Amino acid sequence: MRLILIGPPGSGKGTQAKLLSNRLKLAHIGTGDILREAIREKTPLGRVAEPYILRGELVPDDLVNEVIAERFRQEDRPESFVTDGYPRTVAQAAAFDQVLRQQFLDLTGVLFLIVEDEEIVRRMTGRWSCPVCKSTYHLVNNPPRNPGICDICQSKLIQRVDDREATVRERLRQYHMNTEGLLAHYRSRGLLHEVCGVGTIDQIYDKIVKELKQANPSC
Ligand code: AMP
Repeated sequence: MRLILIGPPGSGKGTQAKLLSNRLKLAHIGTGDILREAIREKTPLGRVAEPYILRGELVPDDLVNEVIAERFRQEDRPESFVTDGYPRTVAQAAAFDQVLRQQFLDLTGVLFLIVEDEEIVRRMTGRWSCPVCKSTYHLVNNPPRNPGICDICQSKLIQRVDDREATVRERLRQYHMNTEGLLAHYRSRGLLHEVCGVGTIDQIYDKIVKELKQANPSC
């Protein structure tokens, strides 16, 4: 199975991609994770990508396309996969089409997780984490016992720069600007499936799988 997950930042597409990857044995290709890892390791890719990510902007298409093309050029290229956060623009979709064509791989479907903007802002700006033991919290859904302090190791909690409100709103603006064309690109090929991204993790997962089964009875 070869899937693309599209959804606004904070829609839970990363969580769903990991579930699909684990349960259906698909390679998980998350460009956000790849870029954050490159930044942590201070690679040339990380150094170029970091300022864009900090500003809440997209990293240039050529750079991200090359990361993906390289992944598919490897001997252990993924045969079955779920992408999370790629492609994000029509130019990336065109580049990915070309990579897949060269590898004789067809897409099974493109899942579009729908979540409203204000819900995204509420979800993302509430996320805090512990820099020491990596525990995560949410001010509304899962608050720490003492405000700003980790329950497990008592360290001071931090907020990811890209979870701050101004950054989230900038990411949403860019998301809407880029996504319309992306959706049209896959809709016109009959590959797009819309799934409501509100509910528990398992409810959303079940909706995704049901939608995929309906469209591809052999899955
Ligand atoms: P994510 O974790 O998928 O929300 O990605 C975090 C950040 O990484 C985004 O806000 C972008 O700056 C960058 N990024 C991730 N994937 C892409 C992509 N396909 N194209 C451009 N930038 C990306």
